[in-house]
Amino acid sequence: MKISENIIHHQYDVVVLGAGGAGLRATLGMCHANLKTACITKVFPTRSHTVAAQGGIGAALGNMNDHDDWRYHFYDTIKGSDWLGDQDAIEYMCKNAISAVVELEHMGVPFSRTESGHIYQRPFGGHTLEFGKQMAHRACAAADRTGHAILHTLYQQCMQYNAEFFIEYIALDLVMNDDGECCGLLAWNLEDGHLHFFQAHLVVIASGGFGRIYQSCTSAHTCTGDGNAMILRAGLPLQDMEFIQFHPTGIYGSGCLITEGARGEGGYLTNSSGERFMERYAPNAKDLASRDVVSRAMTIEIMEGRGVGPQRDHILLHLEHINANTLHERLPGIMETARIFAGVDASKEPIPVLPTVHYNMGGIPTNIQAEVIKSEKKDTVKGLMAIGEAACVSVHGANRLGTNSLLDIIVFGRSAALRAKEIIKKNEPYRSFNLEKLSQRVERFESIKSQNGTHHVSHIRSKMQKIMQQYCSVFRTEETLQKGLELLLVLKDEINDLKINDKSNIWNTDLLEALELHNMYELAVVTINSALYRKESRGAHARDDHKNRDDENWLHHSLATLNFKDLTVDFKKRPVQLEPLTDAVQSIAPKERVY
Ligand SMILES: Cc1cc2nc3c(=O)[nH]c(=O)nc-3n(C[C@H](O)[C@H](O)[C@H](O)COP(=O)(O)OP(=O)(O)OC[C@H]3O[C@@H](n4cnc5c(N)ncnc54)[C@H](O)[C@@H]3O)c2cc1C
Repeated sequence: MKISENIIHHQYDVVVLGAGGAGLRATLGMCHANLKTACITKVFPTRSHTVAAQGGIGAALGNMNDHDDWRYHFYDTIKGSDWLGDQDAIEYMCKNAISAVVELEHMGVPFSRTESGHIYQRPFGGHTLEFGKQMAHRACAAADRTGHAILHTLYQQCMQYNAEFFIEYIALDLVMNDDGECCGLLAWNLEDGHLHFFQAHLVVIASGGFGRIYQSCTSAHTCTGDGNAMILRAGLPLQDMEFIQFHPTGIYGSGCLITEGARGEGGYLTNSSGERFMERYAPNAKDLASRDVVSRAMTIEIMEGRGVGPQRDHILLHLEHINANTLHERLPGIMETARIFAGVDASKEPIPVLPTVHYNMGGIPTNIQAEVIKSEKKDTVKGLMAIGEAACVSVHGANRLGTNSLLDIIVFGRSAALRAKEIIKKNEPYRSFNLEKLSQRVERFESIKSQNGTHHVSHIRSKMQKIMQQYCSVFRTEETLQKGLELLLVLKDEINDLKINDKSNIWNTDLLEALELHNMYELAVVTINSALYRKESRGAHARDDHKNRDDENWLHHSLATLNFKDLTVDFKKRPVQLEPLTDAVQSIAPKERVY
C-alpha cells in the first residue's frame, strides 16, 4: 500500500529495529509466538556488532568443577554495577542465564568443550565464587569468537520461521500519536530509495550502542546509536548516559579489542619498569578486577610517567608465557588481531594496549519485560520496547561486567517476545496514526538531504569524536566537561550547515552518514551533560573533583531529555531498585567496592 508517491505502508504485529543478538533473539521469539514480525537492519544481520564479541557469555553453569551458583553471579553483577544496577532485573538475568545458555547450545551454538564434553568456561573480570573469595570460571566461550557463533546460530534459527527481514533499510524515526503512544517506524530503503512506514502494534528498538561518538572505540562503524536518538526526538528520556565503559585492552593505535578472556587465560599487564602494577590497585583480583578499575589504574600509570613506548603513552599486555597450544585453541582471533593491528606475534612478545571506549551502560530505560519507561515513576510507553545495548534495563548500572552483555541481549530479547505474546491480541485494530506527525518525520529527512552548506560530515564527525575523547574520558572534572560541552555546542551551527553532495535517494551514503552524525551528536550532547550532572564517582564515571561515591545523594538513575531548540538537557532522578524480584536472594546492600 502507498501512503503517497514515495512512502510505502506496511502493517505488522511487531517491528524489530536491529538484527544483532538482541534483535534476532526477539524476532525469533516473536515468530515463535505467531506474531507477524518485520526485522529492519542497516547491515546484513550477521554483520551486526554482536558478531565481534569475543570472550564469552556469562552463566553459572559450574562446568569447571568450581560449584558456581547464579547467586554469586547476582552478587558480582551488583558489585560490578557499583550498586547502580536494579537488583530485580539482575536477579532475572542471572537466574535465567543458565537456561539461556543451554537453549543456545541446543539451537546449535558451537561452544568450546571441556575434556568431559561440557561447555568450556573461562575466568573473567569481576567473576567470583562465594561473594568475592576466589575467581570463578563463568564465561561460556566459543574460542574467542563467541558473538560470531551466537549471531550466526540465531540468524539460522530465524530462517526456520517466516520472519521478514528488511536488510539495508535505515530506520529514521518513531512515529508517535498525540497520546504519546508508538504507532510505528519510518525507514528508508537504500536500494530503491523509497521511504517505508511500518505500522505496528509494537516497535522493539534493538539498534545497539553508540561507541562511535568517541575517536577510539572497539565498536563497529555502524554503532551510532540511531535508536537512542529517535527516543530523544520522540521527547522521551535516556537513562544513565554518563556511564561509558572503557575496555582496558584496546590495541594501541587502532582501538581493536583484545578480549578480557586473554587475561582470563593468564595474561597480565606491565608498566615501563616491567612491574605488574595491578597488584597494587587490586590485590586480590589483580588483572581480573573489573574493567573500570583496570582502565583507571592503567590511565594513572600513564599519567604518572610509567607508560611504555617513546611517548610513554601505553601499557603492555603479556601472553607470551602462555602455552602456544592454549593460545592457538582458545584465543586464535586475538592472535590474528594482534598480528594485523599491532604487528606483534603475541606468543613471543607483548601487545601494546590502551583503555578504549567499549560499551554504553546507559540507554533507553525499560522494565524487565523490555517495555520502555517514560518517567521516574516507571510508567511505560504503549507500543514501544527496547532491548540490548540500546536499552538500560538496568542490569549493568555504572559498570558492566564482561560477558553480561551477550547474556543481557539473549535474556531480554526473549523476555520482550514473551511480553509481546501477552499484550498483542489477535486481530486487534492498529493504533491510528496521525498523518501530520508522519509527514513531520519525512520532512526532517528531506531537510537534511537538501542541506547545501559548507561543512563536510567527516570533518565534523572527527571533531566531535576528538572532543568526546579528550574531555569526557576515563577521568572527568567540571572544568574538562564544561570545556567539552562548549566545544560541542560550537559544532551545532556546522551540523546545520552540512554539504550533502548526493541528492538522490538510492545508496546515498553521504546522506546516511549525515543522518548518523545527527544521531551521534545528539547523544554526545546528552552524554557530556549527564557526566556534568552526576557529581560523584561511581563505576565507570570517575570525577576527579568528586572522588567518592555518594549514596546519600546519587544512588539514583539519571533520566535525561534533550531540548532540541537550545540543546539543553533536563534531568530527573529515578530510584535504583534495591529489592530483588523474589525471595530466592537477598538484597545486597551498598558497601565499599574493592577487588
Ligand atoms: C569488539 C567487541 C567485543 C565484545 N565482546 C563481548 C563479550 O565477549 N561478551 C559480552 O557479553 N559482550 C561483548 N561485547 C558487547 C556485546 O557484544 C554488545 O553489547 C552486544 O552484542 C550488542 O548487541 P545488540 O543486539 O544490542 O546490538 P548490535 O549487535 O550492535 O546490533 C545492532 C543492530 O541494529 C541495527 N541498526 C542500528 N541502527 C539502525 C538503523 N538506523 N536502521 C536499521 N538498523 C539499524 C544494525 O544493523 C544491527 O543489526 C563486545 C563488544 C565489542 C564491540
